Amino acid sequence: PVVTRFAPSPTGFLHIGGARTALFNWLFARHFGGKALLRIEDTDRKRSTREAIDAILDGLSWLNLDWDEETVFQSERGSRHVEVAEKLLEAGHAYKCYATSEELEEMRAAQRAAKQPLRYDGRWRDRDPADAPLGAPFVIRLKTPNEGETVIEDAVQGRVTVRNSELDDYILLRADGSPTYMLAVVVDDHDMGVTHIIRGDDHLNNAFRQLPIIRAMDGIEGGWPDPVYAHIPLIHGNDGAKLSKRHGAMGVDAYRDELGILPEALFNYLLRLGWGHGDQEVFTREEAIEFFTLDGVGRSPSRFDMKKLLNMNGDYIRAADDARLAGLIAPKIGANADLELLTRAMPVLKTRARDVNELADGAAFLFKTRPLQMTEKAQALLTEEACSILAQISARLHSEQDWTSSALEANLKSHAEELGLGLGKLAQPLRAALTGQTTSPGIFDVLVLLGKEESLARIDAQAT
Ligand code: GLU
Repeated sequence: PVVTRFAPSPTGFLHIGGARTALFNWLFARHFGGKALLRIEDTDRKRSTREAIDAILDGLSWLNLDWDEETVFQSERGSRHVEVAEKLLEAGHAYKCYATSEELEEMRAAQRAAKQPLRYDGRWRDRDPADAPLGAPFVIRLKTPNEGETVIEDAVQGRVTVRNSELDDYILLRADGSPTYMLAVVVDDHDMGVTHIIRGDDHLNNAFRQLPIIRAMDGIEGGWPDPVYAHIPLIHGNDGAKLSKRHGAMGVDAYRDELGILPEALFNYLLRLGWGHGDQEVFTREEAIEFFTLDGVGRSPSRFDMKKLLNMNGDYIRAADDARLAGLIAPKIGANADLELLTRAMPVLKTRARDVNELADGAAFLFKTRPLQMTEKAQALLTEEACSILAQISARLHSEQDWTSSALEANLKSHAEELGLGLGKLAQPLRAALTGQTTSPGIFDVLVLLGKEESLARIDAQAT
């Protein structure tokens, strides 16, 4: 059975790359009817915060990604990490290193001077621990293989080979007994039964350093098979550079709150970021689960395209339920938002909006209080002539009994004809008077949504 995991470090928010990694792990597990697990890698106690954990959990549930079994907190598994380090030590796959920090700094300085890679040189690898001063602090290092090479058949990157001489004897357990990321991640993946490790390709190098632990432990405890690795190319900006805030490297919460993105739009956009299925662009959740395998993941970095996301978001807004959208924008409008009216207005509002904030902006005119605040442009439309036209319109509309879009259209068209004016000449000041703006939904829709009483009160406030 397939078991995947998403293993974020809670040192910031759930950023867009992390969200995509979560999505791919989730989809892969769902596709194969396996399990998707969540592990919070909070071993760095200083940098891990409760806020960050909450932001990650919140972002995941907003994207509607649910996880099987209980969330694992890495910080709670310390004793098992120590146990594995000690087993490796006992079996001769790890050793105690007593090098002091001054000594290691000297070593690196010499390597720098000789233009060699900076790397622990294995000075305690074969040394007798009895050489160390009594009670001196030590770290436990992994004895990585020196000869030969390690090959990984990565499900995305293909076959990748590294010479073992390039692997350093890195630290498993620090002098204070705390485990390093490299140890903890391997132990937890094994104990959680993870079969497929799907993560960013910035971790590919780590895989070569993690495999020796797995293979050594397979010899010691048994039942430590190599996992399948799938290292996904990172997301780049639309200019090909590393993703930065300018390109959209923000928390998922900012996509929701600041950019007004719908979760199903982000889900679909992230899905297409590095994964494809023919030339299909839009997928339901069910289709995504049905089609998602690692074969569809490309090898080159994907480019984040904000315009494309916003266009996709607009399509999802048009497809979304009106009452739901009304519920999303009501808090943005404030205390006098009226859900019933918002829901009724939604079909006309959502034809043009690309994000939820635009939708809220578009709805704002409905809830303005009189006297209406006018934009400068709107004010400019309300000339003396325009205001006398508004007075005539007011008179006609007062006696209009059929307050529907089609009746209002017929009424105003015939008035425009009587005056020998284009409908636009009427509609422009009318829009300004009704909305305080120069852009709005169609003028007849505006009249209908505001209702007869409110419409006439707004017109009369300008008419002379
Ligand atoms: N906690 C690591 C990170 O957030 C991920 C570790 C892994 O996927 O192996 O980068």
